[in-house]
Amino acid sequence: MDHASPPSNARHRLRLAGALELSPSIEKHPINIRERYGHFINGEFVPGQGDESFATVNPATGEPLAQVAAGTEADVDAAVAAARKAHDEVWSKLSGLERGKYIYRIARRLQERGREFATLESTDNGKPIRETRDVDIPLAAAHFFYYAGWADKLRYATRGAAANPSSLGVAGQVIPWNFPLLMLAWKIAPALATGNTVVLKPAETTPLTAMLFAELLQEVDLPPGVVNIVNGAGATGSHVVSHPGVDKVAFTGSTQVGRAIMRAIAGSGKKATMELGGKGANIVYADASLDQAVEGCVDGIFFNQGHVCCAGSRLLLEESIADEFIARLKRRVETLRVGDPLDKNTDVGAINSKGQLATIERYLEIGREEGATVWQGAACQKPDAGYFVLPTILTGVQQSDTVVREEIFGPVLACLTFRTPDEAIRKANDTEYGLACGVWSEKTAKVFRTAHALNCGVVWANGYNLFDPASPFGGVRHSGFGREGGIAGLWPYLKA
Ligand code: NAD
Ligand code: MG
Repeated sequence: MDHASPPSNARHRLRLAGALELSPSIEKHPINIRERYGHFINGEFVPGQGDESFATVNPATGEPLAQVAAGTEADVDAAVAAARKAHDEVWSKLSGLERGKYIYRIARRLQERGREFATLESTDNGKPIRETRDVDIPLAAAHFFYYAGWADKLRYATRGAAANPSSLGVAGQVIPWNFPLLMLAWKIAPALATGNTVVLKPAETTPLTAMLFAELLQEVDLPPGVVNIVNGAGATGSHVVSHPGVDKVAFTGSTQVGRAIMRAIAGSGKKATMELGGKGANIVYADASLDQAVEGCVDGIFFNQGHVCCAGSRLLLEESIADEFIARLKRRVETLRVGDPLDKNTDVGAINSKGQLATIERYLEIGREEGATVWQGAACQKPDAGYFVLPTILTGVQQSDTVVREEIFGPVLACLTFRTPDEAIRKANDTEYGLACGVWSEKTAKVFRTAHALNCGVVWANGYNLFDPASPFGGVRHSGFGREGGIAGLWPYLKA
C-alpha cells in the first residue's frame, strides 16, 4: 500500500469539509475527445469564423489532444449578440425560482457526470485525478448548488437599496488554466443566479472541460444564448473584455494581464472584478502542532503542482523550530508521488504547459544564482515524457530575493525564519500581493492577532486551501479586487 495515502486523503477530506461528495452512482463514461473544437454560441457548437486554430496538449505526455479554433472578433460579436438577446428576452425575465431550477439541474448533472469531467480535466490540465475527482469537480458542483439557492432570494443579497436588485446584462468572463472547470463555475454560477448572461473564454491550454460543460448545458435545456463559450488565447480574451456590448468583466489570471484589461476598459463604465496573482505566506509559530503544520504547508504549495493563486509559496518559520520543521517537511515530501495524473496514487501531476515549465525552471536558476539551496524530493523519479517538476524546497533565501518576491506558480517553496510575531507579520506583508496567508499556532489569541495584522483577502488558521462556496474569496493590492463566493460574490453582478 502506498504509505503516502492516509495523510493525502485526510487533507482532501479536510478541504471538502462542508462541500459535496460526488454521487456514489457516478456514471462511468469513458472520455470522448473530439478532433476539433470551435465555440459554443447561442446554444450550438459552431466552427468559428476564423482560420486560425491551436492545439491543446496532454501535459503528462506532451501529445496534442485536439485542435481548437481561435475566436475572432466576429465570433465574439456573435456570442455577445446571442447573450444580449437571451438576457433581454429570456433570462432576465424569468423568475428567480425558474432560473434556480436550471442552475440546480446543472449542479446535479455535474455530479452525475463527475467521473468523466474529472478524467477529462486531469488529461487536459495535468492535475492528479484524486484532486479533480475529490476537489475540482465536487467544488464546481457545490458552487452551482450554492448559487442556485440564491436565485430567488436576491432581495436579501443587497443591503436595503433595492427591493429586487436587477442584473447588469452581459458578463464577459476570462479564466485561467489552473482550475479550469472550477473557475468556470465561480464565474458562471453567480452570473446566472443574478439574471445575467455570459460570454466566457477558457484558457487556451485547458478548453476541454468547458466544451464538455457546454454539452451539459444542452442536456439541461438552458435557453440558447444564456451561456456562450468562445475559445482562444489572449487576443480573443481581449475582444471579450473590450466588447462594447459587455456590461461586466470578470477576470482571473495574472496581475500583468489584469492590469492590461483595466487599461482596456478604463472609462467604459463596465463593472469589473479581478482575481490576480499571489505570494502567500504560511506562518508557523513554535507552539503550533508541527505534524499538522507540515501537512498544511505541503498541501499549501504542492497541491495542484503549486499552480494555485493562493498557494502558500513562502514559509515563515519561528527560528527555534526552523531546522526541525524543515527536516520533517523534507521527510514528508519524500513520500509524495510525482507522475501520471490519471493514477489515483499520484500526489503531484504534470506542469500545465511547456511554457510554464520553462518559467519554473528559470526561477530555479535565478534562485541558485541568488544563493538559494535548492532541494528536490519525491517518492519516485519524474517521468521522462511530459512536463514535470519535482517538489522543491528553497532554503538560504532572503526577503529581497526574486524567488521570495515573485510568483513562481509551481511546486516551489521558499523558506525564511522570524524571531517575533511582529517580524513574521512584517515579512508576510512585505510583498506587492495580498491574496492569502496561513497561521499555525495553538494559541488562539496569537492566531487572531496575527490574522488581523495580515494584509490579504483570506487567512486560514491551522489549515490551508480550504474552500467553501459560501465563503468569499479574493485579494487586495496587486492580487486584485472584488470577491467571488458567498453573498459578496453576487454583488458584482447586480445593479444594487
Ligand atoms: P494569464 O493572465 O496569462 O491568462 C489568464 C487568461 O487571460 C487566459 O484565458 C488568457 O488567454 C487570457 N488573456 C491573456 N491575455 C489577455 C488579454 N490581453 N486580455 C484578455 N484576456 C487575456 O494567466 P494564466 O497563466 O492563465 O494563469 C496564471 C495566473 O492566474 C497566475 O498569476 C495566478 O496567480 C492567477 N490566478 C489567480 C486566481 C485568483 O483567484 N486570484 C486564480 C487562478 C489563477
Ligand atoms: Mg491542455
